[in-house]
Amino acid sequence: MAEYEDTYEKVMELARRRGFVWPSSEIYGSVAGFIDYGPLGAMLKRRIENIWRNFYVVQEGYYEIECPTVGIEPIYVASGHVGGFSDKMFQCPHCQEFLRADHVAEAFGIPHAGTMSKEELHDVLLDKECPACNKVLGDVEVFDFNLMFTTSIGPGGQRKGYLRPETAQGMFVDFPRLLRFYRDHLPFGAVQIGKSYRNEISPRQGMIRLREFTQAEAEIFVHPEEKDHPQFFRYADYSMPLCGIAQQEKDEPAVVRTMRQAVDEGIIANEYVAYYVAMTHDILTTVGFNPEKIRFRQHMPDERAHYATDCWDAEAFSDRFGWVEIVGIADRTNYDLKAHAAVSGQKNTVFVQYPEPKKVHHKAIVPNYGKMGPVFRGKAKAVAEAMASAEPTEEGIRVTVDGEEILVAPEMYTVKDEMVDVFGEDVMPHVIEPSYGIDRICYMVLEHAYSEDVADGETRTVMRFKNGVAPVQVAVLPLMARDGMDEIARKLVLDLQAEGLQTEYDDAGAIGRRYRRQDEVGTPFCITVDYDTKEDGTVTLRDRDSMQQIRGKMEDVVAKIPLLLKGKLTFENAL
Ligand code: AMP
Repeated sequence: MAEYEDTYEKVMELARRRGFVWPSSEIYGSVAGFIDYGPLGAMLKRRIENIWRNFYVVQEGYYEIECPTVGIEPIYVASGHVGGFSDKMFQCPHCQEFLRADHVAEAFGIPHAGTMSKEELHDVLLDKECPACNKVLGDVEVFDFNLMFTTSIGPGGQRKGYLRPETAQGMFVDFPRLLRFYRDHLPFGAVQIGKSYRNEISPRQGMIRLREFTQAEAEIFVHPEEKDHPQFFRYADYSMPLCGIAQQEKDEPAVVRTMRQAVDEGIIANEYVAYYVAMTHDILTTVGFNPEKIRFRQHMPDERAHYATDCWDAEAFSDRFGWVEIVGIADRTNYDLKAHAAVSGQKNTVFVQYPEPKKVHHKAIVPNYGKMGPVFRGKAKAVAEAMASAEPTEEGIRVTVDGEEILVAPEMYTVKDEMVDVFGEDVMPHVIEPSYGIDRICYMVLEHAYSEDVADGETRTVMRFKNGVAPVQVAVLPLMARDGMDEIARKLVLDLQAEGLQTEYDDAGAIGRRYRRQDEVGTPFCITVDYDTKEDGTVTLRDRDSMQQIRGKMEDVVAKIPLLLKGKLTFENAL
């Protein structure tokens, strides 16, 4: 197995050499916080995104939308990003390096640094050394740094724009259109996968903290009083370790609970949150996270946004970075819709019909025009209209007409108490938001897949990718690039491509080395064409993880590989 202290170095070296991840703009010296996905990395990422789509778009039925990455100012004023999307920063007085105050404090073992004020951070940093130059920091000024990249729209910079710091706002801004698309019924959801931008202060954690990264976010709009997920049965019995608030407060280990138990015992606030906690676990293990390196941690009340009723992070363990937040799942209540309603003037509500009309008392005010006419003359009609929605008191009804305050005496109207039918009410939905960092997922998939074993007396590096994410699905290797074996192999490649499989052909070097090359990029299956193939049309099929080989007819192998890749057939029973 891998020597864990330097898995990160090994993974990143392999990732660079084999075309998974490259530093961006490398020929110009690169800049921290940006990466390029090479040919195999881009394929891996796409496959991970498509698995995510399979869950959210296909299984849940939440359609994907695509909004611009440049947003105009009112969006981010309403969302609160202009006012408060900042990290606390300071500059080292010795080496002039800008550093994130909470991260430096955390590195010195200060607990809860992330929730400290600027003054508190200032105080704890006084006697600490700068991580860049090792000199004692002393009296540094800690200040807020807004993480949004700004831009201007149009020539002359008339309009301020921001690169979106999250994809979520697109779904909130489009809420009225989405509501109509879903025919005015709750619950419904929409998702977005795309780039987000944050001008991170000192990103030194490779793929974990980027300035341009991909998010996959779902916004699920639900009735505020109906937080039972209609398909809860799917994950009701799904169990996993949960580090709830209580466990963290008492420094106790996570408790293993089914989602049903977690909701019933009040560990998770409601079925919606529990459902997406379980589905997230399902997604992360499907793409290849080691289940023993996943945990779900509830936000402590001081860490959670003030408006959120519950928030859970899916964290994954990395040998280099420890526990890393990968996904956040929150019940954000109506915070976002309310904020956009206030700034845009859109109602952002849904008319929800009652199952049966409700009979309610209604005080109808019937004006007596015979008495009002002589007093109010031309204004009588306007006064009567204003009275309709006013509250009668003993001295009469007070209304304002054309800026004038008028008291209408009790003898000028009668109040009738009547029963009326009310068919429903306007409701502002609550939002359940699962938010995934795709680059962090890609990194963890690489790290958790990385393994070393021994084959033929040599160390073998194998990326044990799940079949569903392996960039190359099958490799065809002629034993020799001659005697017709290469022609058969090339024809076989065409047949496999026609099945929609990402196939590689490799005839360079000894067969053992070629297997190692495929193992290193995690290709699940290799097919070898040899002298017997020419005689009887059979080939060998080799399994990456067990290195077992089985032999079968070429057509049969082509037909079985898609089933093997989907896990509908085991290797032992394939041929
Ligand atoms: P947040 O909106 O901060 O809760 O972020 C949602 C998700 O996006 C997180 O769980 C991360 O997986 C991911 N994320 C946030 N910031 C970054 C970053 N700078 N680089 C890469 N991924 C990030």
